Amino acid sequence: MAIIPGIKKRFIFISSLLATCVLVALLLTQCSRHRSAAIFVQEPLPYAQNALAPVISAKTLSFHYGKHYAGYVKKANALTQGSAYAGKTAIDVIRETAGDAAKAAVFNNAAQAWNHAFYFKCMNPHGGGVPQGRLAKMIDAAFGSFNNFKDVFISAASDQFGSGWVWLVLDGKKLAVIDTSNADTPLAHGLTPLFTVDVWEHAYYLDYQNRRADYVRQVLDKLANWQFANDQLTKAEPASPSTSK
Ligand code: MN
Repeated sequence: MAIIPGIKKRFIFISSLLATCVLVALLLTQCSRHRSAAIFVQEPLPYAQNALAPVISAKTLSFHYGKHYAGYVKKANALTQGSAYAGKTAIDVIRETAGDAAKAAVFNNAAQAWNHAFYFKCMNPHGGGVPQGRLAKMIDAAFGSFNNFKDVFISAASDQFGSGWVWLVLDGKKLAVIDTSNADTPLAHGLTPLFTVDVWEHAYYLDYQNRRADYVRQVLDKLANWQFANDQLTKAEPASPSTSK
């Protein structure tokens, strides 16, 4: 008769052990799921690697997209694994690490991952020409004419010392051209990016060597995706029925 309580005790012990194992296994699965959720994704190139030639060669694009951009995405993910960044978006990470010297590596790779995804979308094999719609009106209002805007943009590209980016941004209600150094991005300064050209040497050196202004002018004249820039404007500030007339 004394055997039965013993068996009962052992049964309870084994049952609780099993339940604990199941709980631990569930927790581990959850943890690894969080750990493996990558914040940064390499977006597909919106055209073939040879589609922007001769303005940007297939060789430049294959290194730029396949090595530089891919490298930033990979490093940004490696640096943001773990609980401190769980559940955050790429833009959260950029804004939260901007200006923090201790988090410079995270900011640099996160911002470069975002900047590159944006840059590749700013070009189109059938792009160039002149912007239409609200963007055209706002460019005229801010710069006097589209030709003046191009001069301002190309000057900013030429004057940017070292590596960086040139941007057309929405600053409040007005358009502005700015340049940023290295990985820096308008997102870190409360500005809305509408269009950019990457002026790091890796973006043009194989095709243009030191002729950065020629590269930027060619991109503006033949590849600029003004529809994409117009879409960014609409996203940031949807036109009201009275202003869209
Ligand atoms: Mn680049």
